[in-house]
Amino acid sequence: MIINRRRRRIALLSAVTLLAVAALTACRAGHTPAAAASAAGPAAPSPGEVTPSWPRPSAGAPLFEFQTWVREEVRAAMKVQTEGLLTGDFTKFAIGAPPGDKALRAELRRRFRTLRALHVTRFDQRVDGQPRALPKAGTWQVVHVVDHCFVETDCGTDETVFDSVWAQAPEGLRLVGFRQNDGRSHCFTCESVDSRSYNRPWETTELIAQVGARTLVAVPPRYRNRLADLSRRAEKAAAVADRYRIGAGEVDRYRVFVADDAAWRRWYHHRPGAWVAGMAVATGEHRIEVELHASELTADFTDELLTHELAHVATLRNDTHDSQKALWFLIEGMAEYVQQQRPGAGDYPDRDALDHLPHRRTLRSVSVDPPADDADDRDAAGRYAVGYYAVTFLFGRYGKERTLRFFQDVVQKGIGLDGPSRSVFGKPWATVDKECAAYVRGL
Ligand SMILES: [Zn+2]
Repeated sequence: MIINRRRRRIALLSAVTLLAVAALTACRAGHTPAAAASAAGPAAPSPGEVTPSWPRPSAGAPLFEFQTWVREEVRAAMKVQTEGLLTGDFTKFAIGAPPGDKALRAELRRRFRTLRALHVTRFDQRVDGQPRALPKAGTWQVVHVVDHCFVETDCGTDETVFDSVWAQAPEGLRLVGFRQNDGRSHCFTCESVDSRSYNRPWETTELIAQVGARTLVAVPPRYRNRLADLSRRAEKAAAVADRYRIGAGEVDRYRVFVADDAAWRRWYHHRPGAWVAGMAVATGEHRIEVELHASELTADFTDELLTHELAHVATLRNDTHDSQKALWFLIEGMAEYVQQQRPGAGDYPDRDALDHLPHRRTLRSVSVDPPADDADDRDAAGRYAVGYYAVTFLFGRYGKERTLRFFQDVVQKGIGLDGPSRSVFGKPWATVDKECAAYVRGL
């Protein structure tokens, strides 16, 4: 069988690295009294001006005095920015941006439009650590940590980290621009170890969005005429994924971002493998977003891709799951299995790819390695197929309830394969693994 490029299998890259829970229980400090004080402060500013909220140090004052001044001025500006964003007042949102800086104001308008289109309901910004003096005299880098929500007014922690650059001017500080967090300093108030390294879609790209009962789907404006159809399909995929939710808590809403070629290179990890059509990206505790490449959203693949990725959101649920290599078959196999439960799914599309998998006839374990980034489509598909048939065997032999419980213990709780296998299936994992492998060999 020739595997069409459009049949590219779907990557999991949620929590690409193995994340230790301890690393995520970081030191969230929330707003300090100083922040609250400055937040309560400024009246409506004039366009482009940051209303002074802290005494400006005199020339020659120690560095920490300037850092304190910059930090408090930016805190005050953040408060006004957020007020403007949530109330639809662009003048407030653009606080600190000189009216003559057309490029910056265009970028601010894009951010403003996009965040509003995503139904932003919360955008709590805080300054992390101390502002850093940049080589150019009088310029400063500030780390923003932003807890934000789309659609829901209370979405739990969804954190974004980015930097802003400010320049000293006679009247105070002026905003120069935003950029990706450079990762050069420790993040004191970050909740997630991952949030610093991502570009969220709304940080780089103009988006329009449609909200459904269970989903938020966002696309670049060039795909405007596809949005309604994608939203409808996402709702159908969500209905399937919802039947396989694993773990405590709710998936408040599935968030799907469709990338064009440029966005595909800029969002999240920047470097999807050659065979990747979509990703489920853990963005924080209990937060997973879905990214799909627009070119993969063809008539015969969209539902499959959407259901697969939403299945990751339903079954992984958070950024603390155990994603070590040995469990790849289980994580991807589960998403493949759920994808095949959608109405009208037909036969499993990668059955034939199994025949091209090296050593399939002598397979002794279904813990196959994930495809390399540069793997060809057929090799990737064969590995996904092993996962799919292994999970299919578990559902058939042990039932849905036990298979989902096994998955929860192994992947979400991270306590290995053998203990959960003994407690849930009543036998060692080595035995169950052999059963799965025999099933795959016999196909
Ligand atoms: Zn996947």
